Amino acid sequence: MGPIVKDGRVLEFTCIVCPLGCRLRAILEDGEVRSVEGNRCPRGIVYAQNEVEPKRILISVVKVSGGNLPVVSVKTSEPMPKEMIPEAMRILSKVTVQAPVKIGQIIIKDFLGLKINVTATRNVDPAQPS
Ligand code: SF4
Repeated sequence: MGPIVKDGRVLEFTCIVCPLGCRLRAILEDGEVRSVEGNRCPRGIVYAQNEVEPKRILISVVKVSGGNLPVVSVKTSEPMPKEMIPEAMRILSKVTVQAPVKIGQIIIKDFLGLKINVTATRNVDPAQPS
C-alpha cells in the first residue's frame, strides 16, 4: 500500500549511494522531506533530502599572502545549498589569508550566514627568505 499523504506530495527516485539502488518514496510537506520509505539504510534519507534540496560540499582555494604556496585548498564543513555556490565562489575569490595556514584552520566562520565554516584542507608554511 502506498503512503498516506495529506497536503503533501510524493516523489519517487532511485538512491544511487550504493549498488543496492533502493527505490525511494519521499513524502514532502511545505517543500521539505517529512519522511522517506523504501530505504534500506539511513543514507537513503540523506540522499532523498539532498535530492529535494540539493546541497554540495564546496571545495575551492583562497589566496595566501607570505606563504610558500600562492593558494590554499579549502572546503565547507557541511554541504551548502547548490544555488548559493556561485556567490560563495565569488566571495572566496576575494579572500586572502596570511601564512602560516594550518590544516583544519577556520578561514571563514558562519559562511554566508549559514552555520557552516570554510576550513583549510592543507598546510601552507611561511615563504623562506631568499
Ligand atoms: S538506501 Fe541505503 S541501502 Fe538503499 S541504495 Fe541507498 S545507500 Fe544503498
